[in-house]
Amino acid sequence: MKPVRTLSGVTTVTVLTKPYPCPGKCIFCPTDVRMPKSYLPDEPGAARAFQNDFDPYRQVQTRLDSYRANGHPTDKIELLILGGTWSAYRRDYQEWFVQRCFDAMNGFDSPSLVEAQRANETAACRNVGLVIETRPDEITPREIAWLRYLGVTKVQMGAQSLDDRILEINQRGHTAAQTLKATALLRAAGFKVVLHWMPNLLGATLESDRQDFQRLWQGYCPDEIKIYPCQLLENADLYAYWQRGEYHPYTTEELIHLIADLKPSIPPYCRVNRVIRDIPSTHVVEGNRRTSLRQDVLAELQRRGQSCGCIRCHEVRGEKVDPQTLTFEDYTYTAAEAEEHFLHYRTPNRKIAGYLRLSLPLLGAPDIGLADLREAALIREVHVYGQSLPVGMDQEGAAQHSGLGTRLIGAAEEIARQRGFTRMAVIAAIGTRGYYRQRGFEMGELYMVKDL
Ligand code: SF4
Repeated sequence: MKPVRTLSGVTTVTVLTKPYPCPGKCIFCPTDVRMPKSYLPDEPGAARAFQNDFDPYRQVQTRLDSYRANGHPTDKIELLILGGTWSAYRRDYQEWFVQRCFDAMNGFDSPSLVEAQRANETAACRNVGLVIETRPDEITPREIAWLRYLGVTKVQMGAQSLDDRILEINQRGHTAAQTLKATALLRAAGFKVVLHWMPNLLGATLESDRQDFQRLWQGYCPDEIKIYPCQLLENADLYAYWQRGEYHPYTTEELIHLIADLKPSIPPYCRVNRVIRDIPSTHVVEGNRRTSLRQDVLAELQRRGQSCGCIRCHEVRGEKVDPQTLTFEDYTYTAAEAEEHFLHYRTPNRKIAGYLRLSLPLLGAPDIGLADLREAALIREVHVYGQSLPVGMDQEGAAQHSGLGTRLIGAAEEIARQRGFTRMAVIAAIGTRGYYRQRGFEMGELYMVKDL
């Protein structure tokens, strides 16, 4: 058993959609006709999808089986759907794909998505998060309502750069303003937002990348980021630029120093999920081939006597938590059109035992047009760490079972009430509806809601 996979309290199951083109023309993005755009058949998660013919049911089922065989709990599942641009797939395919994932978690087939979702509310494998990836220019109020219908709770988007000149040279096909607008729309609808950011794009320098990274915290304020340094691959258009001598990948040393420069500036509300994409090194034509960059960066930070401020570097992981010694903190910041509160509990050595993201829409917040959200404050995430124990198998000191979630929700309600909000809405994943019902919420159209 590898405990680290489930230490955050939730087991992640990654699935890929079928091979399909993408409306994007990004010059750094690899193309392999056997795969959805941007994926290679021998990337770790992608290889499993390939073996299962991209069938959603089989992908989820085989993953759950192998987790069980290795002694991992499978009662709380975060479903991560990868593959090019989700919104570019036909909606009937999207609906079928998500339903089959729910069917696999439920262990039986349902006649419709809504019924599969309903069955999952009380299933043994409950869905506690559903993530898709798409482009910022695909995010509209209509798309958001559709994503909620599917049960999506978190959206990953490629920002790549926040500099329009770099976006244009790399043919991203959207502007930084569109990325900002997409984050504001998703935030106003309570979604968690993950941005991918790419240093070393064509036209960028180490210095311009340092400056670009700081823009992330001005309005965009992603909840999570993936730092994906651009990797030079033979089956991407960028290869021709390199052949003509117009593109130069950073060296491993340059990358380690760059990321070490950036990490200390990351605010406490953000989690850095990745600092490199797990592309097998044999595909990388020139530049960094090390996939263990995170350890190298941490070693460099230690040498400098610095540390990273992000959530991932402060998770309690397997540590025992004594609820009596925790301190409550409210880190407040302003993102595009919302006042955000990152409410969290810290242990005496500054580790985070649990957190809640409360979003209070400001006057200019976009109107998504959903009845549940009218004049509502939003809980975008409640996350309490601890060993992912099956319900009923409590372990003394494991943070997940010491009522931290309830205390965080109470604190969020109090802040919202003081600010004059009369209603709270939660973007509850299907399998967490029961949890919120027990805390006084009831099902609205697409959110769990509660009068304050
Ligand atoms: S939008 Fe994403 S998947 Fe599509 S071409 Fe660009 S990088 Fe590749």
